[in-house]
Amino acid sequence: MSRNLPFSRQQLELFFPAPDPPAPSDAPLPVLPAGEDADLTGLSRRLVAALGLHDLAKRVVVLWNPRLRTTAGRAYRNRAVVELNPQLVRISPEEIDRTLRHELAHLVAAHRAGRRRIPAHGREWRIACSELGIPGESRCHDLPFQRRPQRRRFAYVCPVCQHRLLRVRRIKRAAACYHCCRAHNQGRFDARFQLIEARLKESEVASRQS
Ligand SMILES: [Zn+2]
Ligand SMILES: [Zn+2]
Repeated sequence: MSRNLPFSRQQLELFFPAPDPPAPSDAPLPVLPAGEDADLTGLSRRLVAALGLHDLAKRVVVLWNPRLRTTAGRAYRNRAVVELNPQLVRISPEEIDRTLRHELAHLVAAHRAGRRRIPAHGREWRIACSELGIPGESRCHDLPFQRRPQRRRFAYVCPVCQHRLLRVRRIKRAAACYHCCRAHNQGRFDARFQLIEARLKESEVASRQS
């Protein structure tokens, strides 16, 4: 009844289940900043003062806003406030710096325009970006890692150990349970452990890929 397909180890490994997420106690969440950042406020004031905009330089304040989700940063021209997404800390210092300058460029462009209305990412803003050291800055504010994850739409189950596997795409080739192949067949494919497509449970429909 067992039909052994010529399955390489590599192909089997395509279907590794995702590792279990670490227990909460194993992974203390890094403390993300919140509220005003004195260092970044100081840096911003120096950058803006270097452009000769001393009125604006005195007023600029930089805040970390934990409520920002996919937005990396925001600028409020009337209050001269730049808000940054604390998740930037997890990306890199360069990304914090770039986002800060992008938002400062909005304040600089708006300050220079006065009552004149200007497009958010128009010529005035691009000039300010160049002056603030980020020429060629794009208008993208979205954090790369916070795109909506893909839904897993296919469920598979091992007929022997009942291990369930969720996949974004349908598995096209024969695939066997990794755990059982490891435990009973030296890691080689064994049709006894071939995964069977199963109905998604309601709790799995909403689950996302990590
Ligand atoms: Zn912008
Ligand atoms: Zn199994």
